[in-house]
Amino acid sequence: MRHDVKRRESRTLLGEKVYAGFNGREASGHLPDLCLELLTQQKRTWPFLRKGYESLRQGTERHVSCKGFSVLLQHNPGRVKSTLAAVGEQDISRRPCFLCLRHLPEEQRGVLYRSAYLILSNPMPVFPAHFTIAHVNHRPQAISAHVDSLLQLMADFGPGWTVLYNGPKCGASAPDHFHFQAVPSGRMPAEKEIRGKRRLTLIMQNDDVALYRAKGMGREVIIIEGGSPTAVGAALAAFLKALKRVLGTHEEPMINLIGLYEQTTWRLVVFPRRKHRPDAFFRPGEARVAVSPAVVEMGGILVTPFARDFERLDSAAVASIFEEVSLEAVSVKKALDAIRSTI
Ligand SMILES: [Zn+2]
Repeated sequence: MRHDVKRRESRTLLGEKVYAGFNGREASGHLPDLCLELLTQQKRTWPFLRKGYESLRQGTERHVSCKGFSVLLQHNPGRVKSTLAAVGEQDISRRPCFLCLRHLPEEQRGVLYRSAYLILSNPMPVFPAHFTIAHVNHRPQAISAHVDSLLQLMADFGPGWTVLYNGPKCGASAPDHFHFQAVPSGRMPAEKEIRGKRRLTLIMQNDDVALYRAKGMGREVIIIEGGSPTAVGAALAAFLKALKRVLGTHEEPMINLIGLYEQTTWRLVVFPRRKHRPDAFFRPGEARVAVSPAVVEMGGILVTPFARDFERLDSAAVASIFEEVSLEAVSVKKALDAIRSTI
């Protein structure tokens, strides 16, 4: 009985928060259009979000060329809260979950996606359109149960968009509440860099899927691509399983993931990690480098909320951050050797 009451309450809450719905049928419209309409509505009705987008517009950017790859530094003071966020288990258990329906800001609305996710406008954007795709229920950040959703989202958003995932210990702002992000494609330098075929070493290939390792990126990058979402999902699962074995863990291996969809090809770009934040992040006072690498940073956009970091980060500093937080080559190689025969 109490369970029923709870369920009814949560349905009412959801009803209040839904701006539009998308179920995949033609009549429910084009997903990116619905999300952009939502963003326009939120800019009109939610001052905090409007301020976040103004802060992004007023921010500055500059390219840093590193050996073989480049990054874009983004000075974005509006991101200070996310960059410095405490994401330890204790910190998380003490705060109300900001992706749960009952804690969403009053003005916030979302696009209900296939009855399972609420697509929300991120009020502290890094991109001119930046969405958080939160599961409607409070459940932990873990990719294995949500790979089908990831691949479906990629196809529903289409080629102009990129779907992002942060592992719970390497960049997810809410490790206790499952979520993806969606942003316009083509803005992260890595998206273009991985297209250079000379950069890619083919690790394995069958009729449905190919798996590559990218060279010269300053961090480990694995690319899984194919025309069958089932095969692409299975290859990702196999890679994660191999990583788990190599790392001797039962937990999800630390990864960030970029999902790109083009003309019926699903392409997953996986960044295996060993550490969330570089040591420089924990230095005292002015010596602290406030860069907190998550999927956007691994994709090549380094968000710096403080001007001093924006000004002082050079190619050596960027290369050393990547080197420190990326999983070491020897572990990646072992995992790739292990899956060569299994897919
Ligand atoms: Zn939650």
